Formats: sequence, C-alpha cells, structure tokens
Amino acid sequence: MALVVTKFGGTSVGSTERIMYVARHLIARQQCGDRVVAVVSAMGDVTDELVAKAGEVCPEPPEREMDMLLATGEQVTIALLAMAIHSLGHRAISFTGSQVGIVTDAGHTKAKIREVRAERVREALEQGRIVIVAGFQGMTVDGSITTLGRGGSDTTAVAIAAGVGADVCEIYSDVDGVYTADPRVVPAARKLDEISYEEMLEMAATGARVLQLRAVEFARNHGVTLHCRSSFNDSPGTIVREGDETMEQAIISGVTHDTSEAKVTIRDVPDRPGVAAVVFGMLADANVNVDMIIQNVSESGTTDISFTTPKEDLVRARRATDAVVAELGARTWTVDESVAKVSLVGAGMKTHPGVAAQMFKALAGAGVNLDMISTSSIRISCVISASEVERAVRALHTSFGLDSDEISAESSPACGEVN
Ligand code: ADP
Ligand code: ASP
Ligand code: MG
Repeated sequence: MALVVTKFGGTSVGSTERIMYVARHLIARQQCGDRVVAVVSAMGDVTDELVAKAGEVCPEPPEREMDMLLATGEQVTIALLAMAIHSLGHRAISFTGSQVGIVTDAGHTKAKIREVRAERVREALEQGRIVIVAGFQGMTVDGSITTLGRGGSDTTAVAIAAGVGADVCEIYSDVDGVYTADPRVVPAARKLDEISYEEMLEMAATGARVLQLRAVEFARNHGVTLHCRSSFNDSPGTIVREGDETMEQAIISGVTHDTSEAKVTIRDVPDRPGVAAVVFGMLADANVNVDMIIQNVSESGTTDISFTTPKEDLVRARRATDAVVAELGARTWTVDESVAKVSLVGAGMKTHPGVAAQMFKALAGAGVNLDMISTSSIRISCVISASEVERAVRALHTSFGLDSDEISAESSPACGEVN
C-alpha cells in the first residue's frame, strides 16, 4: 500500500467536468489500496483573473491583500473536488494551507515554507479519507495568509509529501512529462524518462515552468521523488530524482527559454570600488530579484551596468534604480522589456568542452544576436531579443541532436488535447 501525494494544476481542474474526472481518478487510486492526498491549483486561469482584478482597483496592491485575494482561487477547487468525491459515494475532506499547518515566513506573494505540521493530513488518511489540500498558500506564525509565488502548488505538494513521508509525489499537468524543450515551442521535443534534481533545478530556474523551482529545491533537500505526468492520459511521465550512475547522462538534457524578465541598464556609473555593492545593495533592499549582471569596459572613468530582473519586480526596480542614479551621480537608466533568455542545460557539459562554442555558432547560424551571457557548471544562458526566442530554441534543439526522429500526431507531446 503506497502513500501518494498527487498535484493537479489549473488546466487539470479547469472545469467541473475536469474536477469530476480527477475525483474518479483519486477514487480509483484509493481502491487500488493507496492512501491518497491531492493538492490542487485554482481552476483554469482564475489566478490570472484575480491578479487582473486587483490591478483594476489598485495599481500597486499591498502584498498582504494580494495574498488574501489569490488564496481564494485554490479554496474553490478544494471544496468542489471534495464534493465531487462525496457525490461518487466516497469520503474526502478538504483543507486550506493553514489548516494543514503550512507555516511560511512573512514574504507575502513569494513566501517560503518554514515548517509543515502534517498531523491533520495523517489523521484524515487514517480515517480512510481522500485528503484534498489547497496548493500555493500557507500562513505565517502570526496568522496572516501567504502565497508561495506563481506555480507554488507544486511546492505545496512536495512539502506535504515530505511532511507525511509519501512514497512518491506525482505532479499532473497538461503535458506528460519533462521534455527536452517546451513542447509548445518545439514540436520535435522528446520526453525525458528521468532527470536529476541538479538538471531539473537549472531547467526550472531558466523557464521550464512544468515544475516550480522551489518545488525542485524542496524535493532535493528532502529526498522526495517526483513523477511529472499528464492528467489527460496514463502514459508514464518523467521521474525527477538524485542523479547516479544508473541514470543515462546526455551532454545536453534540454533547451529552455524565459520571457518573464526585463533588462535594466544604468548608464555612466562612476567606475570605482564599491559601486556595484551600492547598486545591488539598494536593489536587494528594495526586494528586487536580480538574475544576470554585466558591466561594460570602463571608458573615461565611467561604465554601464546592466542586469535582468523579473518583470513582476519592475515597479520596485524602477524606483530603486532612480534612487541608485541619484546616489551615484550616474547619467540615466533604461529598461528593455522585449528581451528573452535562452539556456542549454546538461550535466555532461562539465566534462565536454566546446558546448558554448557550438551554442554560439548555432545561434549565429539562426541570425540571433547575443546581448548577455552567463554560465554555471551545467548551464549556459544567453539574453537575446524576445522576437527571436522561438527561432533560437529550435535552432539549439536541432544543433544538439535533441529533435525526435518521428514527429507524428501520435508521438507529438500531449498538451491538453488528449483525453
Ligand atoms: P500546471 O498549471 O498544471 O501547473 P504549467 O502550465 O505550470 O502546468 O506547466 C505545464 C506547461 O509547462 C506545459 O504546458 C508546457 O507548455 C510548459 N513547459 C515549458 N517547458 C517545458 C518542458 N521542458 N517540458 C514540459 N513542459 C514544459
Ligand atoms: N494558482 C497559482 C498560479 O496560478 C498556483 C499554481 O497553480 O501552482 O500560479
Ligand atoms: Mg505549474
């Protein structure tokens, strides 16, 4: 008898029909003898709609109130799913994040989980119920509702899986696994049978939104095995686990892309010790996340500094950059929102020289200009123009031999259209 934590994303619970389907799936699992927990997201695009509504009444909503609003989306789904299971003659109970003891810090809109007190889940499982938990939300020690950042239901599922000691955490979405590239962009992308935490972390960090980055970090830190699979078919998905010698090691595991960041450039910053510390210190104090950084060669005692930041941090970034320019006596600053990042990820890079050269050659062959470059031991990322990103991803996918041999209606990835 296995203890299974499942997670169903927005598309998987996007209608009452889909909720009935998930209810039947969970009941069937329980009837096989498993103890079953389901973590669910808000239905369809509900979270996006709530974000848009907030914008209609307040250009910069207080983050505490934003969390209060966004947490309602998941609460609708848990109640409907528990009712659906009830209507099919089985026992289920729904819980909000705070009711299952997901304790977070006070970082509203992207709170971090500090502790999971999973007794209520365990007790309900002991009583033979299917346990339904609202994803994406938690509570601070002093009782404020928090959310875990977009895509955060994945992290809820992993945290609950760690908290109850589940045998596996199954992440169901509209795609049947982790692919060598986003199957919506690269029809020839291939599903990976397995991938290491290390590579999945880099893929999630660079735009493969099939798993939230924090969920992968949590899974690695707590040794939770993940199985990413489709809620629209039964095919085996992708296992994410600790890499070892039994895992096939390709040089390149995937090509990812991300259009969610903007590039900020500060012009004519004085070139003297301590300047970068002031710039990035002031951005950090303003809670602005910074990804890539590039500093130009100094000419006549001044230099330009560029950095990328999530577009969702831009309001704070603009304000902080204004203050930086005033503080340092820089000339001005500009923002470019039409940039994208394309990345190659693969553990084999550590031991195979020449990957960067091949990447730059493939991008040059596709006529793509490089704006910024950054690397880790198993990743190379380039900032390019957003209008060229799909062409760049496809060129890299082909250049590194990742294209599937056969692209047919049957073998092409299932993005929600299979049922
Ligand atoms: P959910 O709403 O269920 O959490 P998401 O939309 O967050 O699902 O994640 C699934 C989507 O991730 C897919 O529809 C796919 O377009 C996208 N995606 C991006 N990169 C990849 C990749 N490398 N492999 C699989 N899916 C990917
Ligand atoms: N509903 C939230 C979102 O859309 C959390 C999630 O789906 O994982 O980001
Ligand atoms: Mg998601």
